[in-house]
Amino acid sequence: MISKEISSKTSYRDVFESNRKGVPFIIMELIVATKNKKKLEEIKEILKSLNLKLFSLADYPKAPRIIENGKTFRENSIKKAIKIAKFTQKLTLGEDSGLCVDALGGKPGVYSSRFGGKDKSDRKNNLKLLKLLVGLPVNKRKAHYCCAVALADKNGLVGVAEGECSGFIGFTEKGNFGFGYDPLFVIPKYKKTFAQLGARIKHKMSHRFRALQKAKAILSTYLKRNP
Ligand code: IMP
Repeated sequence: MISKEISSKTSYRDVFESNRKGVPFIIMELIVATKNKKKLEEIKEILKSLNLKLFSLADYPKAPRIIENGKTFRENSIKKAIKIAKFTQKLTLGEDSGLCVDALGGKPGVYSSRFGGKDKSDRKNNLKLLKLLVGLPVNKRKAHYCCAVALADKNGLVGVAEGECSGFIGFTEKGNFGFGYDPLFVIPKYKKTFAQLGARIKHKMSHRFRALQKAKAILSTYLKRNP
């Protein structure tokens, strides 16, 4: 196996070229502006082919707090990326995501994590959602997950990518995998929730996977331009 050591002289170009040739070695650092362990796990898994060395806000306890007051996922993801890139002076990925339910006019949307109340809890969120949809038949329970991923470096925004995944809201929580609304989010093709289907299937079709696939292309262009 050919390998290459990282040194202070390893450039972004080395990293990109080596990756294209399939040479396995640790490349450059990417800060993921999140404290959510489950999200971080998913992002790590989806980006693993890039051999990036990922850090999160858990590695930066003094990072500034980000107030997620944007009206869109895109706005929030940009805010996270720019603020943390400025603080760390490193390439940073900001991610914002959530669930949009047709029958609720797109809610909970950007309020997905705090839908059930101030003391955030997935269980509370799911119970509130079920309550609001009581009596609605399957065809009125359509929903989609949205994800926006922004990349920024110390000079500002590099690019933004978005992804969606469609499904419907089930009648009871099912499954133990994933997080958040996954026990309620049914994928029509499988007639199972993401929490039943597990990571292997979720990571091939999720909103996060789709946004990150586009983000990978932005990242490659960035690496080529910043050797
Ligand atoms: P954020 O940390 O402000 O982006 O909040 C995202 C929230 O949206 C999470 O706390 C979940 O409630 C929901 N969410 C986003 N992506 C997913 C997912 O892949 N599965 C389940 N829930 C998700």
